[in-house]
Amino acid sequence: MTNIHQYDVVVVGGGGAGLMAAMYASQRAKTAVISKLYPVRSHTGAAQGGIGAALGNLEEDSPEWHTFDTVKGSDYLGDQDAIEFMCHEAVQAVYDLEHMGLPFSRTADGRIAQRPFGGHTNNVTKKPVRRACYASDRTGHMILQTLYQQCIKNNILFYDEFQAMDLLLVDGKVAGVVAVELATGELHVFHAKAVIFATGGHGRIWEITSNAYAYTGDGCAIVARRGIPLEDMEFFQFHPTGIYKLGILITEAVRGEGGILFNKKGERFMERYAPTIKDLASRDVISRAMYLETRAGNDVNGQRFFYLDVTPETVNKYAEIDGRTRPDGTPYRVTAQEILSKIPDIADFCQTYLGIDPTRQPIPVQPTAHYAMGGIPTNIMGQVVIDEQNTVLPGLYAAGEVACVSVHGANRLGTNSLVDLIVFGKHSGIHAAEFALGADFVPLPADPTEYVREQISRLHAGSGKEKAAAIAREMKAEMFDHVGVFRTQEGLEHAIQKIRELQERFKDVRVTDSGKIFNMELLQTWELGNMLDLALVTAQSALARTESRGGHARDDYPARDDVNWLKHTLAWMDRDQIRLGYKPVVITKYPPKERTY
Ligand SMILES: Cc1cc2nc3c(=O)[nH]c(=O)nc-3n(C[C@H](O)[C@H](O)[C@H](O)COP(=O)(O)OP(=O)(O)OC[C@H]3O[C@@H](n4cnc5c(N)ncnc54)[C@H](O)[C@@H]3O)c2cc1C
Repeated sequence: MTNIHQYDVVVVGGGGAGLMAAMYASQRAKTAVISKLYPVRSHTGAAQGGIGAALGNLEEDSPEWHTFDTVKGSDYLGDQDAIEFMCHEAVQAVYDLEHMGLPFSRTADGRIAQRPFGGHTNNVTKKPVRRACYASDRTGHMILQTLYQQCIKNNILFYDEFQAMDLLLVDGKVAGVVAVELATGELHVFHAKAVIFATGGHGRIWEITSNAYAYTGDGCAIVARRGIPLEDMEFFQFHPTGIYKLGILITEAVRGEGGILFNKKGERFMERYAPTIKDLASRDVISRAMYLETRAGNDVNGQRFFYLDVTPETVNKYAEIDGRTRPDGTPYRVTAQEILSKIPDIADFCQTYLGIDPTRQPIPVQPTAHYAMGGIPTNIMGQVVIDEQNTVLPGLYAAGEVACVSVHGANRLGTNSLVDLIVFGKHSGIHAAEFALGADFVPLPADPTEYVREQISRLHAGSGKEKAAAIAREMKAEMFDHVGVFRTQEGLEHAIQKIRELQERFKDVRVTDSGKIFNMELLQTWELGNMLDLALVTAQSALARTESRGGHARDDYPARDDVNWLKHTLAWMDRDQIRLGYKPVVITKYPPKERTY
């Protein structure tokens, strides 16, 4: 038997974007949140470093500078109208969080403290500016807890541990979603006037990643199967400082606090790649520098890692060399105690996973798959747009990492994802509620769960010749080697062939657990199917783009090519084929320039 629920607005995802959307939608419309995880376990809780907003609490700053840095950071692929909107809204968004009770770290006189982060600069001096607001190194955790408390206070209805598996569209309009209840295995139909996807990213496609196990790209895969294109999927960010082999993130805030990167010769190699901003260059620039250093044989022990050194001796030595000062103009000098107070969780990770104390020893790091710039195309109201002309699909919304507005373009600046969640989560919630109030329910299809049942029975009916774990392992390795920091035509073609082969082999996987209660084998196998689809879309989009821009670096096409490629990719999954289309980038004030740091 199928359970049918009816809401004006259904939010899929209980992370930062989903909770923000739910809070605003519920002010006017009957709203529910479906989340495969208990909401406070969402990946937003892992965000460490900060949320960017030009408050100017410690030095001069302005939303316009934030806008320009984001445009430049995006390698000019971000839509400038959306970026300007986000950076101006960011300031109020941070104050809103403060008023909701978020315990930000403070300055001595009680204002929200701010620290430098990669790519955020004073546009006049070009030096790093303190723009990242933070709650020590637990910023995302605090955001998630604060928003969840507000949602509970406002009596928002949660369906925790319900996994959405399908989007119901009737005659091109949203009718709802189908989800499985993990505890019982029962299917539920959520009949809704508006649906907001806020399901996060898909970094689990890669072998070394900072992303949570839940980051399997369900939202993108679900909508793509229903004919909606995915935008700019070739742009995936590799963060330069993941813990060696494990991928666990060492926040950029460590470099914001003065940490320095070294190669095996003890050289501060970023001096050569970004002479002005050095260790605080944007992430794509540093990850590529590491790759080039590796190719030159400068990685430590020939094992593709580098050292991130945040010991007080090193921090103080280089602060002196760089002439770094505190806000009051005195020289920037730190003690081990001060470092520990700024990055307590990082110190814990280093102790737990590496057995080292980062105030005494350098941390071995390597690039780690971190953030999806691409995703479900939307406009600044969060409405999903489905073609080259930005035609809106009535009732469908997306926000957060799953969405591509596009504010991050080809490369996201640190601290800009948390801003994105808060700003676009809010506006998609407001807009979805307004839409729902003026719309009727679209009647459900005759058999709304048919497609989900079909997918589930296929997973039980495989021959059993293949194992899901082996396919996952091979996919991740292939993606890391050939669709990683650097790409070539040959490597991408290899990856596409391999993924197609894995998709064929996937048909021979059989889920042997026929139980209904918490059947994680079934769900994880279904998630693997999602990841294979997204891996293919990523590799195909990357093969077509014969230039290097932001997070997409082609060894065989090293230059950015604004004549042919200043455009967004749209990729449709047409049965087994990927069809590509393109739409223009919105440029308002800042014509593309070469990026120098
Ligand atoms: C380690 C780490 C550190 C980071 N640090 C920073 C930082 O300092 N600053 C910054 O700006 N950004 C940072 N980021 C990026 C940022 O945290 C994320 O991009 C952002 O939190 C994503 O939020 P979200 O709301 O889109 O998704 P999430 O918070 O991941 O929420 C996704 C939600 O969707 C639900 N879901 C997924 N699939 C389904 C399904 N099929 N059915 C039902 N529910 C589903 C999940 O249960 C979850 O509730 C960091 C990321 C990582 C991984």
